[in-house]
Amino acid sequence: MPRPIHTTTALVTALAATLGPTLAVAQSGGELNLYSSRHYDTDERLYSDFTDATGITINRIEGNADELIARMEAESANSPADVLLTVDTSRLERAKDAGLLQSVESDVLEERIPGNLRDDENQWFGFSQRARIFFYDEADVTEPPQTYLALAEPQYEGMVCARSSTNTYNQTLLAAIIENHGEEAATEWAQGVVSNFARDPQGGDTDQLRAIVSGECDIAVSNTYYFARAIRTDVEGLSDEAIESIGWVFPSQDAEGAHVNLSGGGVAANAPNRDNAVRFLEYLASDSAQEYFSAGNDEYPVVEGVARSEAVEELGAFQADDVDLSAVAENLPAAQRIFDQVGWK
Ligand code: FE
Repeated sequence: MPRPIHTTTALVTALAATLGPTLAVAQSGGELNLYSSRHYDTDERLYSDFTDATGITINRIEGNADELIARMEAESANSPADVLLTVDTSRLERAKDAGLLQSVESDVLEERIPGNLRDDENQWFGFSQRARIFFYDEADVTEPPQTYLALAEPQYEGMVCARSSTNTYNQTLLAAIIENHGEEAATEWAQGVVSNFARDPQGGDTDQLRAIVSGECDIAVSNTYYFARAIRTDVEGLSDEAIESIGWVFPSQDAEGAHVNLSGGGVAANAPNRDNAVRFLEYLASDSAQEYFSAGNDEYPVVEGVARSEAVEELGAFQADDVDLSAVAENLPAAQRIFDQVGWK
């Protein structure tokens, strides 16, 4: 059996204990077993607030998404998991396809989370969103691409950096392009972007941003939170001065909108504490939880009107592509095929 990576039961229990009598009123007690691939300090407050409000103790099992999904599969019907929290619709969809999640009927979730940001059978829900956009060297690029499709234009030959096609963010982006423009256009696009590469795909999103600073690339594809994180904290290779030299474009603002992906979760298929699990998801959709949840990873809230964190605010508001992410996930196999076909490593 896979080892528990990190549990904080004792901590949460101790915290609940110190908060004492105020809990008694709202307390209904019980437990919640949370399988989470999130690991942000700001999340502590998120969990303790839930415990304060409900008296429900959170037992947290942390690991990367693949480990957690594998663990739930191995545990099968005996899995203690109540909630799975992870990033990227491809992984949420994989968990769903593996039968690890269950449909949830909740007026709160349906009212607060836009329909395109949750599974069509309500097996998973997005709780924060990140856009996958273009960053560029302001000194070298006077006319950055304004749409996703434009990134493939010959004028950007030798200028573009992106990570590998094995990365889920790129897979979901291409899957969205298939949904919006069809498979043929998506293939041409991928082919064009490969022709425009400044170097072979390598590293993570932050490495693409660093490569703008080092001069290796002029235009990079990255999720917004990597840049917002560099604004908020010290990230190696992305000094304040370096960040000043980088511009960004939310693509396709006059067309489909900027591609967004999700951080989200769902109730485990065999959740022993099902009611608590639903309650926890509903809590994550509350205004205060939305602020913590999104700020924890420099992301955008999914609930309309919730305040954005300072660093995210600097990136600014944008028009998001409201394509159904559940439908987009269906295109993932086709996206992988296209990447292989055009030689996007
Ligand atoms: Fe990431």
